[in-house]
Amino acid sequence: MIVRKVNLAVALVLSASAVSAAEQTLNIYSARHYPTDEALYTTFTKITGIRISRVDSDDAGILARLKAEGGASPADVILLVDAARLWKGEIEGLFQPLKSKTLDAAIPSQFRGKASPDGGSPWFGFSTRARIVVYDKATVKKSDVDTYEALADPANKGKLCIRSGSHPYNLSLFGAIMEHLGEAKTQVWLKGLVDNMARTPKGGDTDQIKAVAAGECAIAVTNSYYLARIMRSDKAEDKAMMNRLGIVFPNQSSWGTHLNIAGGAVARHAKNPTNAIKFLEYLATPAAQAHFADGNNEWPVTKSVTFSNEALQTMSGGGFKSETIPVAVIGMNQIKVQQMLDRVGFR
Ligand code: FE
Repeated sequence: MIVRKVNLAVALVLSASAVSAAEQTLNIYSARHYPTDEALYTTFTKITGIRISRVDSDDAGILARLKAEGGASPADVILLVDAARLWKGEIEGLFQPLKSKTLDAAIPSQFRGKASPDGGSPWFGFSTRARIVVYDKATVKKSDVDTYEALADPANKGKLCIRSGSHPYNLSLFGAIMEHLGEAKTQVWLKGLVDNMARTPKGGDTDQIKAVAAGECAIAVTNSYYLARIMRSDKAEDKAMMNRLGIVFPNQSSWGTHLNIAGGAVARHAKNPTNAIKFLEYLATPAAQAHFADGNNEWPVTKSVTFSNEALQTMSGGGFKSETIPVAVIGMNQIKVQQMLDRVGFR
């Protein structure tokens, strides 16, 4: 009998501590595929005592998993690396509107989902990346590729390397172009890109940069942070690659270079919404914002953050003009863009 009582007491203590441990664990589903983020998570745990349990997948995988799990999903925070995917998660009802004076004050409205009538935003961007152009200095002049429009110019026939049209980074670029040029001109432009390809799309952005350095193509499209990684590398082969490459931030004389975001949301069925908001607010702190720049070569979204990553300054020649359309519109254009890609045969 006594033994039984003791066991019960132990069981009660165990279950009580299990509950408090569960409260202090934050479940994050993340598409951020960057090893330098590890420091962000450990610092958050150090500051708050909240442990992080992370599931890594790509944007599409995370959205599919959330849908499949429904109300049983353990996810608290969702981190995605593309504006259109964040928008998709929003319209599929996978996030809960989040009210935070801290985030409202820190994050420009250009980089947020549309606020609901009661003032909550479905998602926030925490860092930006530019979709830029690199070219072979030996065969291409900067003025041949200093706009997105020029990439489709017949003068650049057979020179372009670009990853699959259906990849979120390209879908979002094309969605932005549609916002700037209109639907009809965008389809003509996409056909021009297909006509100018040096090869059928394959690989990621870094593969496109390497293909220029290897002479397989003369022009490539890449997210800025992949190029910054190569710029910061000490390897001789990377230094040789950079000697050969010119860099363009397109459309400096018109609407500016296309920006995408990486951002976050609170999951619809979050069991720890308070800690989820705490984590997202942490991502907007000056230290975390500087880490996006210094660790993963992204630009902070908050103003007046100081960081020491020189590659970001060097690559843009000390700064650049970026487009100012709300990133949410990129998502709204995706279905039409995908249809155009099918029509022009952009795989
Ligand atoms: Fe990426």
